[in-house]
Amino acid sequence: MERYGIITEKNPREIVLLRGRGCRWRRCRFCDYYLDFSRDAQANYRLNKEVLSHVTGLYGCLEVINSGSFSDLDEKTLACIRQTAASKNIRQIHFECHWQDRGTIKTLRDAFKALGVTVKVKIGVETFDALFRECYLDKGIDESNPAKIAEDYDECCLLAGIPGQTAASMTCDINLGLKHFDRVCVNVMTENTAPVKPDASVIDVFTKDVCPAFIDNARVDILMTNTDFGVGGDTCEK
Ligand code: SF4
Repeated sequence: MERYGIITEKNPREIVLLRGRGCRWRRCRFCDYYLDFSRDAQANYRLNKEVLSHVTGLYGCLEVINSGSFSDLDEKTLACIRQTAASKNIRQIHFECHWQDRGTIKTLRDAFKALGVTVKVKIGVETFDALFRECYLDKGIDESNPAKIAEDYDECCLLAGIPGQTAASMTCDINLGLKHFDRVCVNVMTENTAPVKPDASVIDVFTKDVCPAFIDNARVDILMTNTDFGVGGDTCEK
């Protein structure tokens, strides 16, 4: 599995896929990303340290993802990320955090602010249709107001290409994301072992009727496959 990549378009940045102790939620019905985990903190740290050693700082911007929230990473890995940011002159760093872990965000921001590094935190919202999101996808966000969801976050991930979505619903989701967040990342569903499967006809609608309106928007990343950022692969579907 690739764990280091370089994103050259829109918001250029380096990206690392690290390994933590695993997502605490594990209930999203479209996801088996959480299979990329280990309970062995020392083994995770060894792996993550090696991955972080590839970071050069060429854009001064780094995205750190793991299968879960940044708070699922061990302390030594978090220290290694701070050291890497300081030594490679990283000025902006992006992390992911589940809604139910949002209480950990302020401490993270403060720790990097002390180094002069701005933290951007991304939440997987998948859709702003709260009924669909919670009753069908089981995302675990007990808030339906997009403005309130955005309060602790800078960026959101949306999911496209699943049964029940339409051009109107997917467009509405992206527009709401752009209204309430700095940046939006649209992940087109890729089949994995989870119960919710991609719908080829919905992906077709997304490709023809939704994607063209946002493809040139500098605030929107669109991942047609789960490895478009250059990381991920066999085990991790993120
Ligand atoms: S989508 Fe994220 S929060 Fe949901 S189960 Fe997968 S890793 Fe956990």
